[in-house]
Amino acid sequence: MEGRDAHLNPFASLTMTPPFLILALLYPYLLAREPGLISDKLLKIVRCPDCVARVPAGADARAWGSLTMEHTGDGYALGCAGCGRRYPYNPKEGYLSLMPQGAEFATGGEFAHTSDYVAHQHEFEAALDYRHISQPLLGAGVRNVTLRRLLQLRANDAALEIGCGNGKFAYWNRRRVNHMVGIDPAPLFAAEAINAVDLARADARALPFATASFSAVFSLDVMEHLTTADVVQMFKEIRRVLKPGGRAMIYSNTRERSLLQPLISGSRVVGKGLERVGLADFRRDRLRKSDHVKDVATFDQLRAVIAESGLQLERVIYWNGVFQSLTENVIAKLGEAVLTKAQARARRKAALQAAVAHQHNEFGDNFGEAAHAHPLEPEHDAAAELARREAKRQIARGGLYRAGLQGLTRVMLLDLVFFGRMRTGPFFILLRAE
Ligand SMILES: [Zn+2]
Repeated sequence: MEGRDAHLNPFASLTMTPPFLILALLYPYLLAREPGLISDKLLKIVRCPDCVARVPAGADARAWGSLTMEHTGDGYALGCAGCGRRYPYNPKEGYLSLMPQGAEFATGGEFAHTSDYVAHQHEFEAALDYRHISQPLLGAGVRNVTLRRLLQLRANDAALEIGCGNGKFAYWNRRRVNHMVGIDPAPLFAAEAINAVDLARADARALPFATASFSAVFSLDVMEHLTTADVVQMFKEIRRVLKPGGRAMIYSNTRERSLLQPLISGSRVVGKGLERVGLADFRRDRLRKSDHVKDVATFDQLRAVIAESGLQLERVIYWNGVFQSLTENVIAKLGEAVLTKAQARARRKAALQAAVAHQHNEFGDNFGEAAHAHPLEPEHDAAAELARREAKRQIARGGLYRAGLQGLTRVMLLDLVFFGRMRTGPFFILLRAE
């Protein structure tokens, strides 16, 4: 039982005692069941990100930078046979941490740019409600439907999501493939994703995986955060980890404007008007978009980047957000406002009743004055937060609320049906590694 397996298996020392023999036999089952543990499938393909792209002539490219699970004083680490670097692994976190350290990633280098998501991850996390995975609805629903349409995930696929955020797309599609892996440099992974998907903290520019490890790669809302040099490096890395014939789906934006911009802007103007009179709140939307670089500014520049990476461009679907803008800027915001107002009313009523009950006990029948003596201002943000949470509960339960949002998602999909060939900024592309 000792030797190679002992290094791969963090619990191998337990198998030395006979009562644990049964546990050892059940190990693959336990590994699959135990929340937060990484799988053997992932351990087989992970490589040292500092070594994997620098394979010396004559060396075995697939084995270069191999990592071995080792016991350390206070836990576990993956050790690189090539450079000797150790990547600490905490089973309680449930994901691997395989960030590159190479000179080009330090300040001043070619890849010096760091996304705000990475630099200020905790602010984004708090404000954007990152740690929970909801349903694929509205914008996320359109992305998920199109991801499936273009990538055609299959039961024997090994799939990688680059820049997975909280892991929602990897989580929603995990059952369609044989193995699902998600990586992000900011590990704001949701518990659902940690328990169901193999996750790693990693950099798109130095993927910590062996060459030809995946048959499908996807990446949504990531490319626009990177410089052109970074995007070239990311696409080269996608090509490297893809098996021959493997495919990749990217969703991102250039700076190109739609011919339908007046229609799209119209809904935005209406939305801004609603915000001015307190019927809409766009602060979360603004924070989400605050980190966009969009360095690859035109689709022609994107074509050049793709050609440089050696990937083939197979399909493009543009997203002219006419129905999207109407849905997100007007219909959904009005719905949000109605729910927030209802929530604020309920809070005010509950607070008033509590105040009345309290005063009633102390001062007899003098409750009218008592209620006046304890004016409780409804806090809009708290009400909005409660409304959001209540909406999420309703959506999770299904029913009318979810059906309504599914209907709006279908309305948004009309953009791709009607205007999918009309060139504009947002695009879905399907790439192939020959
Ligand atoms: Zn190494």
